[in-house]
Amino acid sequence: MNIDKKYINIAVELAKKAAKKGDFPVGAVIVKNDKIISKAYNTKERKKNAIQHAEILAIEKACKKLKTWHLEQCTLYSSLEPCMMCTGAIMQARIKKVVYSHTNQNFGAIESSNNHITNSIQIIKLENNDNLDLIKNFFKNKRKGTNVNSIDVSRETLK
Ligand SMILES: [Zn+2]
Repeated sequence: MNIDKKYINIAVELAKKAAKKGDFPVGAVIVKNDKIISKAYNTKERKKNAIQHAEILAIEKACKKLKTWHLEQCTLYSSLEPCMMCTGAIMQARIKKVVYSHTNQNFGAIESSNNHITNSIQIIKLENNDNLDLIKNFFKNKRKGTNVNSIDVSRETLK
């Protein structure tokens, strides 16, 4: 299997964990020399904290593990197009390659809004059907019931 596909699949598996815990399904993996350095998933709802995005958490863990903020040799895999905040963190960490699976039409900062990237970063988009189902199911479940407050904007994504 293609190396990017292998790690994007892991990011999607992490996104499933986020969904199971009631969070929007986003998972991120940071890889260096074909080794996983860190894994994380979105915990924004659970922690009631707007900055607990999968990519931010993965970058934080990777910096701790490698004892440096220089992640030049690392690739970040995310199940969703990174938002402006996460794209900023990716640039700050000097990550040179980003692979993501699903377009984030509302908050994406790579293809969806003005491209905010000023560093030279290789960007790859790899669609993943599991991921698409995961996001669709998340919205379907949200529509059925309870906690809809934070979802209104994102609903538009799937129209
Ligand atoms: Zn983000």
